[in-house]
Amino acid sequence: TPVPAPSRPAARSVPAGDPASNSHLVIDNVTKSFGDVQVLHGVSLSVHRGITTAIVGPSGSGKTTLLRLIAGFEAPDSGSIVLADEVVAGGTRLVPAHRRNVGYVAQDGALFPHLSVGRNIAFGLDRKKFRSRAAAEARVAELLQMVSLEPAYARRRPDELSGGQQQRVALARALAREPELMLLDEPFSALDAGLRVATRKAVARTLAEAGVTAILVTHDQGEALSFADQVAVMRRGELAQVGNPFVVYTRPSDRETAEFLGDAV
Ligand code: ADP
Repeated sequence: TPVPAPSRPAARSVPAGDPASNSHLVIDNVTKSFGDVQVLHGVSLSVHRGITTAIVGPSGSGKTTLLRLIAGFEAPDSGSIVLADEVVAGGTRLVPAHRRNVGYVAQDGALFPHLSVGRNIAFGLDRKKFRSRAAAEARVAELLQMVSLEPAYARRRPDELSGGQQQRVALARALAREPELMLLDEPFSALDAGLRVATRKAVARTLAEAGVTAILVTHDQGEALSFADQVAVMRRGELAQVGNPFVVYTRPSDRETAEFLGDAV
C-alpha cells in the first residue's frame, strides 16, 4: 500500500477507516489526470451519514471531476474511495456507477425530452420492486409529492415545465433509485434568483426527510451556508479547507480562500 501523503489536519476531520466514525464516504488521497493535466492532487474527504457537504471553489478547480469519481463515471489514478464501508475505487478495484447506491443531478437536469415527466421519473425505479404499472405510477406520484409537484405533472412533457420544476423532476428521478448518497452538481445555477431559493429549500427539505447524504457543488455562498453542514473549499485540485460553514466563512485558512469566498458574495 502506498504511504499516504501528509494531509492538512483540517482537510480530514475524521481519520479514514475509523470504524467509529459513522462515515458514509471516505475519500483518501485521490489523484486524477486527463492526459498531461493533473486535475486532482491527492484529495481526502470524509462525509458522515445524513449530512450535506457543499464543495465550493473556482471554475476548473476539479469539483465536477471529484463528483464524477464518487459517482463512478471516472476512475481515480491513485488513492481510494470507500462508500458505506465498501471500497468502490482503489487499487485494482472499481465498482461501476450502476452498482453504487448514488444519485446524480447535473446542472441542467438533463431530462429525456421525448418522455413524459412520469416516464422520466419511472426510469429510475427498480423494475423488480415496482413490477406493475399501477405500483410504478403510485411511486411516481409519491416522488412528485416529495419535490412539491402535483401528480398531474406526470403526464406533462419536460418542456411544458419551468426551469425550477424541471430541476425538481430531475431530483425526483434521481431519488427514484433510492440512493443513500445524492450528488448535486450546481443543480440550481440555471435558475433565476427567486426560483433558486424556493427550489433549494424544497430540495433541502426533501433530502433531509429522506435522510439522504448529499454533496453539492455550488458557486453560491448563500447556498453553501444555508444548505450545508460542512463546506469543502477546492482549489487547483486540492481541498484548501474543510469545516463547518460558519467557521470556513468567518475564519478562512488563508488569504486566497478569504478572497475567493469574499468574491462569492
Ligand atoms: P470544476 O467543476 O471545478 O469547474 P472540473 O472538474 O470540471 O472543474 O474541471 C477541472 C479541470 O479538468 C478543467 O481544467 C477541465 O478542463 C479538466 N477536465 C475535466 N474533465 C475532463 C476530461 N474528461 N478530459 C479532459 N480534461 C478534463
